[in-house]
Order: sequence, then structure tokens, then C-alpha cells
Amino acid sequence: MNPALLTIEEQARLLRSRELAPLDLVDAALGRIATLDPQLHAVPQVFAAEARERAKQLANETPGGPLWGIPWLAKDVLTTRLGRTTCGSRILENFRSPYDATVVARLEAAGAILLGKTNMDEFAMGSSTENSAWGPTRNPWNPECVPGGSSGGSAAAVAADLASFALGTDTGGSIRQPAAFCGVVGFKPTYGRVSRYGLVAFASSLDQVGPLTKTVRDAVLVYEAIAGHDAHDSTSLDKPVDRLATDGPAALRGVRVGVPRDFVAQGMDAAAAADFDATLRAAVAAGATLVDVRLERAPASIAVYYIVATAEAAANLSRFDGVRYTHRTAQAGDLATLFAASRTEGFGAEVQRRILLGTYVLSSGYYDAYYLRAQKVRTLIRRDFERAFATCDVIAMPTSPTPAFRIGERAADPLQMYLSDVFTVPANLAGLPAISIPTSTVGGLPLGVQLYAPPLGEARLLQAAEGLEAGLGFQRLGQRGAV
Ligand code: GLN
Repeated sequence: MNPALLTIEEQARLLRSRELAPLDLVDAALGRIATLDPQLHAVPQVFAAEARERAKQLANETPGGPLWGIPWLAKDVLTTRLGRTTCGSRILENFRSPYDATVVARLEAAGAILLGKTNMDEFAMGSSTENSAWGPTRNPWNPECVPGGSSGGSAAAVAADLASFALGTDTGGSIRQPAAFCGVVGFKPTYGRVSRYGLVAFASSLDQVGPLTKTVRDAVLVYEAIAGHDAHDSTSLDKPVDRLATDGPAALRGVRVGVPRDFVAQGMDAAAAADFDATLRAAVAAGATLVDVRLERAPASIAVYYIVATAEAAANLSRFDGVRYTHRTAQAGDLATLFAASRTEGFGAEVQRRILLGTYVLSSGYYDAYYLRAQKVRTLIRRDFERAFATCDVIAMPTSPTPAFRIGERAADPLQMYLSDVFTVPANLAGLPAISIPTSTVGGLPLGVQLYAPPLGEARLLQAAEGLEAGLGFQRLGQRGAV
């Protein structure tokens, strides 16, 4: 069997027993990138020579922890000294970072091998990876369809076994939604649990880094390597990271799973609704108890998110001004033209739309009506979760109201695109950890279910997710012999 198709856990076992060398894994992954990525376009930058060199160096060491010798990919919004950090944007087309993001440095220290950077919606704004300045990524299950976004390159790459895992970032669902569309696991930890140092900021009160993996167990392994306090990020939580015991199939026994039925009923595709019901039955069969919960304010999440996120983005993206880091216009006669023309040439349409929206909601006269009001409703949404978690251990909801849509289908209708985030943005607004795991397929496309837990409830969340995963028995693309 091609070792690239194995999970991290399986690869690590073979590395430890010396049945595999790090170079075997790197070459297997590079081979798949060479064959499959011309169509998928998930990995616009590949560091083949550097990765092979690193694999050879590691071969002289004794195998280390669970990520030692494992090839991985970074979303191109994370700074890496290798290659460029473009955030899918023309404005950063030639930006080279002088430093590695903390998560990149931690994975390096754990012996993981960085293979390249993955495609994404420009500055992580989008749900389809169609907003990349470098062209769209395709879904490996069906190349006519989007892989989701904004971490669509990371999700497609893991689904097609181009790397053992990838990092993504999640501001309103950008890890979980593409994971669901591509049939892989996507995990967004508690806000502040993983360092954002070296993550190019989109919306600083919502952004979080997390893994996209083939299994929940693999997500645990990556999470344990990247989580924990970092003095370089002032919002990083200074609390110990629990070691996550998981005990497989029995892990759902006795777990109270909250189901927000009123909220979930909104705007669901019929096949996705049927899949969610089947998933709840699988949870019950695996020993869970279902509890009705109400998330009264959750339907306001989309509105609140697109005010808070655009406001923060407008402020964060003001640093890309044509003076430092970025593309600079050839038109500049004076400073105002330098700023305006560099930004107009450098930013794509969706990013410009968000900057305009964000500037509008923060402008004098509208601040109280929109931004301040959104912050108040955000607090109410968080309280709904606090109340719900008094009666249950985790909350289940679909990851997305539909399976992957066709490339181009929603590109002309931003509002329709925003609505697909309905079940993912509440976790970011409330700062909660949430995971998407694949459930089944409809029409040849995977669907996902999400579990949410209280802040810092990672241990409970991942344990329940592993139990549910075992109960669902989803087969990955690579296990189906399809790619
Ligand atoms: N799809 C959402 C948006 O477009 C979420 C993006 C994200 O999580 N980075 O803003």
C-alpha cells in the first residue's frame, strides 16, 4: 500500500519500527502532489528539495514523538521562512516572512516536515476557495465542486492524501466547513488555545489555528503539538493543555449530546437533514443520550459575524498599504494615490467588499447601530451556549446546510455564500472549541457533523468525536481506492 494513504498514527508506528523512513513518506507525498495537484490546485507552493533534505537529516536521529518524520502542509496565511506567505492575495504576491509562525516552529520542533503551502480564499475571506488570486482549488471527490473554504487547499490536500495533515485557520468555519466538504476531520480549538503569532490576522477576536486530519486521533496528535501558551500572542491562554485520553468506541457512552432542533431546522438541504438525523441515531447507538437545547439567539450569528468580522478585517488590513510588505502601484503620484491604487490593484473583489462593509459599520453615526449592537448580541449568543451546556456535555449540529456546491454556483451571490456559514460561526462568536467529522456521502459528496464543547472542553470534545467517528464508520477517499 502507498504509505501516503495511511493515518499519522499508522505512519508513526512504521517510522518507529524503521519499516519506513521519513524520506519514504516525503517522496510518497511528493509523488501524489505531482500526479494529482495539477488538477486539484490545492498546493501552489511545494518545498520538495527542502523537505527531502530535512527527511534525510531526520533519518540520522532516533525517532521522536508522534509527528516525527510526518509530512504536512501549512495554509498560506501562516508565516513560514520557507517560500512566500501570500494569503491567496496579489497584494502579498512576493512577501517573504523573516520568521515562522509559532505553530510552524512547534511542528518543526516536533520533527514534522513542512512540504508546502495550501491554497485559500484571499485573506481567509470566503467559503469556497474561489476567492484565491491563484485560482480555485477543486474538490477531490468531484472536481466540478468547490472544496469549501477558506482552508479549501488544506482540506482537499488531506482528502487526496497529498500530505498526512494540514493546518488551517478558522474565523467563522474555515477549518470545519472545508473538512466537511472534503470528507476529513477539521478541528477549531478554544479561542486563545493555539498561538496566533505568525497568523496573518483577519478578525483577531475570532481567528484560531487548527488541524485538518484523516481521523480524530490524528487531530489530537497535531493539537497536542501546537496548543499551549505563547508569550508572543497576548490572547494566548496561559493554562496547561490537558493530555487527551481517548478510549475509542466506548467514548460516547453516557455522553449527553445537546441538539438545538429549532436552529438546525433552518435552511437545511433535505439530504443533509436526513444525514443529521442518521448521525444522531448513530450517536444514540454508541451510547449517547440526546437532550433538547435551545440556542435562541444563534440565528442572529450570521448577521453578527459579518459585522464583527468585517469591522476587525477593515482595521487589520489597513497595514497593507503599498509602503511595506506589499504590492506597490506604478501609478503613485502622491501618498494618497499610492495607498489607494496599491490597494485597489492588490486586493480582490471580496476583500474590497469586506473592507467597505467593515469601514461602514465602524464609521461615526453607524458604530452604535451596527458594531456596538452586534457586540451585545454576541454576548447573548455566548450566554445561550452557557445555558445549554448546563444540561449537556457537547452540542451536535450539521457542519453545513448542504454538501459541496459547484464551482461558480454561488460566486455571483455573496449573501448566499455567507448563509452557508450558519452552523459554524456561532463557535467563533462564543470562542468555543468545535470539530467537524465526516458522516456519509450523498450523490458522491461527503457531509459532516459538528460537535461543540464549552471553552477549554477539548478533552471531552475530542473523546466524544472519536466515539462518534467509530460509530459512523466513514470511509475516506483513499480507503475507497478512488484516487
Ligand atoms: N466563510 C467565512 C467568511 O467568509 C469564514 C471564513 C473563515 O473562517 N476564515 O468569513
